[in-house]
Amino acid sequence: MAIVITNGEYYIYLNEKGKHRKTKNVVQALQYNTVREAINYMYKAPAKTDGFYVYDTFENHVLWKRLSRQEKIELQEQKNGIANVKRRSDGRIRRKKYSKTARTLVYEKYNGRCQLCGRQILLSEMSLDHVKPLSMGGVDDVSNLACTCMPCNRFKANIAPELFENRINDIFMYQTEKNTKHKLKWKIAHRLLLSCIK
Ligand SMILES: [Zn+2]
Repeated sequence: MAIVITNGEYYIYLNEKGKHRKTKNVVQALQYNTVREAINYMYKAPAKTDGFYVYDTFENHVLWKRLSRQEKIELQEQKNGIANVKRRSDGRIRRKKYSKTARTLVYEKYNGRCQLCGRQILLSEMSLDHVKPLSMGGVDDVSNLACTCMPCNRFKANIAPELFENRINDIFMYQTEKNTKHKLKWKIAHRLLLSCIK
């Protein structure tokens, strides 16, 4: 196999001074011993090889190509199991609109209690929370929805899902410590709490 770097029109070759340049003449093209060697050069000169790929001129097929930003996103989504989510033009995940019946179902399932702060709320105050976030492969389906109050859900939306629980614990611990008048009692409670949540 003859390994070259090309964009379908130009080939990378070495000029008389031993510098990497572009040529349309395939005969001049620099032939690499291994695919790895060609890839290494592409990594070394990303701007010069933008749009280029490693090609086998005998078998006529692409051996390696750099992924575009879009392809990288798609690959990551496949890995996360969320290849089929629909996105809006700004890249955010498009969410389903749920019917009144579906909303009532979720509300009743949780007895109208916010699943983040535990407060009793009205159906009209309910905000639907994806228990497993869509960005982490959660399904957009009633089975993955919980009843939350709007302030809680908005708060949660602004914190990365994997950090959410720890952040809640930190806030509670810090605020209680700041506001308590029973410093000694808090010291004991703090220790007990830590052993429960860590
Ligand atoms: Zn709440």
